[in-house]
Amino acid sequence: MCGIVGIVDAGGASIKLYYSLYALQHRGQESAGISTFDGTNLHKFKGAGLVADVFSPPVLSDLKGDAGIGHVRYPTTGANLPENIQPLNFQFREHSISVAHNGNLVNTAELRSGFEQAGQIFTTTTDTEIIAKILMDEISTFGSVEEAVKVCMQKIRGSYSVVMMIGGIIYAFRDPLGIKPFCIGKTERGYMVASESVAIDALNAKLLRDVHPGELIRIDSEGVKGTRIAVPGKRAHCIFEYVYFARADSIIDGVLVYDVRRRIGQDLFKEDPVKADSVCSVPDSGTAYAIGYAEGSKIPFVESLMKNRYMGRTFIMPSQKEREKAVRIKLNPIPAHLKDKSVVLVDDSIVRGTTSKRIIELMREAGAREIHMRIGSPAIKAPCYLGVDMPTREELIASNREEDEVRHKITATTLRHVSLDSLVEAIGIDREDLCTGCLTGCYPLAIEGERAKTHEIDFIDATYQAKLGSFEEPDPFSF
Ligand code: SF4
Repeated sequence: MCGIVGIVDAGGASIKLYYSLYALQHRGQESAGISTFDGTNLHKFKGAGLVADVFSPPVLSDLKGDAGIGHVRYPTTGANLPENIQPLNFQFREHSISVAHNGNLVNTAELRSGFEQAGQIFTTTTDTEIIAKILMDEISTFGSVEEAVKVCMQKIRGSYSVVMMIGGIIYAFRDPLGIKPFCIGKTERGYMVASESVAIDALNAKLLRDVHPGELIRIDSEGVKGTRIAVPGKRAHCIFEYVYFARADSIIDGVLVYDVRRRIGQDLFKEDPVKADSVCSVPDSGTAYAIGYAEGSKIPFVESLMKNRYMGRTFIMPSQKEREKAVRIKLNPIPAHLKDKSVVLVDDSIVRGTTSKRIIELMREAGAREIHMRIGSPAIKAPCYLGVDMPTREELIASNREEDEVRHKITATTLRHVSLDSLVEAIGIDREDLCTGCLTGCYPLAIEGERAKTHEIDFIDATYQAKLGSFEEPDPFSF
């Protein structure tokens, strides 16, 4: 979980990057950074905290230039250290280079040790620096960014959407399985790439399409160009983006997330109808599901938990203790809506189960008679190695428990997760094109000690490319 943006716009980059990162704040709250290039110099600023806390008007006005990249970080590989805050900035020959990355590599240790044995040193503990090192090595060998990205894609394994600025040119590429989201937009006087379409909406820009899995996008002051570097037999879009991570108003790989969640809510009722007085969500993550459930069941949607919207998401707080303490401050039950009522409580997922248990306790204390918990994802059975900071198998409440044992643990009256079939149908993407690793324990690429169903990837000649001056034209890479 991280958010990245890259932009070239003749009206200046820094304010636009700021607004875009603000829209991607849900993807990472630990730190934020922006690098810009003014034609001669690289300007950079980054710090720990939320976008609005890190940047001020004077800082943004010092970030000069029409090209820039930005990042909001939630750490997966690499500790919470100031040097790990992205974008990472380098000087390479006469070029100023900035790199930012969303995702997680699964062969970081092996690659890092290869570099270290060759006498190279690292200044961070991130996998992003490994990607940058490979790219720089290969650019010096081939003199071509396309070839360097191709070799980089052949060497690294994992999930990655990467944005890189060399001089005033933005390069962006997405892993061949398309695990993490990445899309392209047209701004008033240029083009941009971003982790989610909400960052494009924030600039009143136009979403053009997703970056294809294995595609390299190049944006400069002349326009935008796409080069297909790798073609997968099948894709592996992260199914959890639709369930939890992405903002409900984002369109990912052609699908509006809000509609997926609403359809899942309807399916939750169809799969296991229950009689109740009201439907309520765990706000805000469960709201689209709860609205769908209310539509499907004709049971009224009544807000019975009020959220303090000035707190972060409990899931991404660093320690378990902090998470538990935060629930009471974050969610206040409304006794007048709960007393003696049978309530369907809808949320997106159960990870450790501690938050669900605490919410149910709060609702019972407020007088609820029955609490029927409905969950918008299938049970999470296994960890994620591909960019989502999930706990270990031992900490996941459902990893070795049946649904009824989980129900008992969280003290719900009944519990039902949506089935994987309904989830896939609600997304509308072929099941074979989705990563379901954390739900099934079977991953789309080889991971030591885990089951995998890997997909063939063809690397294609970098000359297979076309100028995409206008995305209004038929897309030569639509496959
Ligand atoms: S394992 Fe789960 S969270 Fe991780 S990429 Fe796959 S679907 Fe997403």
